[in-house]
Amino acid sequence: MGKIHLLSDALASQVAAGEVVERPASVVKELVENSIDAEAKSIEVRVQRGGIALIRVLDDGCGMNRDDALMSVERHATSKLRTKEDLGAIGTLGFRGEALPSIASVSKFRLTTRETKALQGTEVTINGGKMAAVKDSGEPPGTQIEIRSLFYNVPARRKFLRTENTEYSHVEQQVRLQAIAHPECRFALVRGERTVFQLPATKNLLERIRGLAGNALASELLEVHAYERNGVKVHGYIGPPGMGRPNRAQQLVFLNDRPVEAAVIHYGLREGYHTALMKGQHPVTFLFIEVDPSKVDVNVHPAKKEVRFHDGNSVRDAVIGAVQRTLQSELRRPVSGEILRSATAARSSFISDQAQSIDSLAAEAQESQTELIPKREQHSLRTDWAENDQSANQQASQEGVADNSRVAESSENKFGEDAEKVERTSGPVPEDFRILGVLGKLYVLMEGKDGLALMDQHAAHERVLFEEMKRRMEEDGVPTQRLLIPATLELPPKDFDMVNQNLEVLARLGIIAEPFGGNTLKIDSLPSFFKNDEPLDFIYAVIEELRVSSAKMSSLRLGEDLVATTVCRHAVKANDKLQGPELDKLLKDLLDCEMPYCCPHGRPTLIQISYSELEKKFGRKV
Ligand code: ADP
Ligand code: MG
Repeated sequence: MGKIHLLSDALASQVAAGEVVERPASVVKELVENSIDAEAKSIEVRVQRGGIALIRVLDDGCGMNRDDALMSVERHATSKLRTKEDLGAIGTLGFRGEALPSIASVSKFRLTTRETKALQGTEVTINGGKMAAVKDSGEPPGTQIEIRSLFYNVPARRKFLRTENTEYSHVEQQVRLQAIAHPECRFALVRGERTVFQLPATKNLLERIRGLAGNALASELLEVHAYERNGVKVHGYIGPPGMGRPNRAQQLVFLNDRPVEAAVIHYGLREGYHTALMKGQHPVTFLFIEVDPSKVDVNVHPAKKEVRFHDGNSVRDAVIGAVQRTLQSELRRPVSGEILRSATAARSSFISDQAQSIDSLAAEAQESQTELIPKREQHSLRTDWAENDQSANQQASQEGVADNSRVAESSENKFGEDAEKVERTSGPVPEDFRILGVLGKLYVLMEGKDGLALMDQHAAHERVLFEEMKRRMEEDGVPTQRLLIPATLELPPKDFDMVNQNLEVLARLGIIAEPFGGNTLKIDSLPSFFKNDEPLDFIYAVIEELRVSSAKMSSLRLGEDLVATTVCRHAVKANDKLQGPELDKLLKDLLDCEMPYCCPHGRPTLIQISYSELEKKFGRKV
């Protein structure tokens, strides 16, 4: 007898399951996609113990009759694909006919289903790929699939599962993705006994985003109005300049309503945002791309996570174009088309003898010394933060070529003639504005070329401080001053752990702290630009903000950018009365920034009310 034999169906399914079913979230994905394909108007996902103990997906879709229910768990059985031509233009989420048999081969599986007008439903039970029972059932129309004890018969795979919390968070992310992709469908997610969210069906994408991501985020998003280029359509919502995230968890992209990842799309987004985001940050996007299904291959990856485009360049260019147009048209800024301002524009140093630079703030602090802060000590904190990126940067600036323009150049080469040319002029200069006065101790009124321009003094100052701080971190570290009497504070254990894990990042930003027994923290030094008299209030505010942001991010370790942003927010004093030269200086420093149009939190620093808007308001023009 030869050595080669055919695998039994059950074993073949288990092998296939290795690709399709990686973890509970992949089961949820397959089941929810099936429900969408079945045209469900309501989908409910329930999980226990992160989906390891139980996943149940309930829909009100078309359901199946008994024959189909039995077929659905056979390998390569699908209602979505018949001919080779169909494969060339997939219009459904599923098509491989693999998910149900694969899932059923590695779990305790129960399917109950009933067609809308049928008198009877069907229940199919399968354990580890073996049919256990088929019977009539009396469920309401639709389909319910219940997966218990995932991987109970494949210990090797079970071992690869992470903690229940981690598995759960992947499940939640998956349901969120599907919910954004299909606002017209009601979605509910229940974890254990708790309803995590319940989203009514809506025709309005923003409404759905609001339901999932909260009002605060939704209200800041910019709408990407229908954009088309080379047959690629783009629409959706994206974050304004400056709204960046340390990872891609909120960079959601859908291709023909299917959540996807593709290098060309990442590239397009990065290029579209260009300097509107800090280096290493990822945008927040809810972006929908539509292409002719025959122009994309979704059958590259068993879990259909990746896609291959016949013409990737046109997709990339459409993404770039849509993002750029949105960023440019939606934000009112003093000079249009400035978002891609070239960094070659003279960028003078912030370090000067005038007020408001880090040095001068420190000097002021020294003058108004309190007992608490008697002597200023310069720590030169070396940073290993820089790494390769940074040395490339330094080299570039030594050559007199700023980083941004290098990117711009190379991208222009890559896009060739085809890409939409975006003005890369040098930025506005203080001469473009005449300062008229300050409104409400906060808004600096200026006469600009096109009308009235307003600068939010506080936001502008935050931006200036932030960029200077980042630069200092790259160079010799942010100067700190030692407290005469170190401040101690006791924190809740969770906050203490979070701070404790980020001491190094804080130190690079000039906050030097160490554990002091129990959950007590000792603060030895603060950044020298800090001039408030209440260091403890400052530290509490910083910790509070870090706590809130770390709760949103999965990782406990916080990015340097995030910490810098937070520190700046609390270091800048509101309602400081600035005099003429100080205002000039602030405006100049702001316009010298790499990203002058928003504060580190993404709020605008400058807005414009153009002459034509004024004319309309005064009824001179309609
Ligand atoms: P595919 O989705 O690739 O066709 P699956 O194994 O996921 O393969 O599903 C097999 C078939 O079972 C589907 O083609 C569909 O006809 C049927 N089916 C699966 N889930 C549902 C559901 N929730 N409602 C109605 N029919 C379903
Ligand atoms: Mg399927």
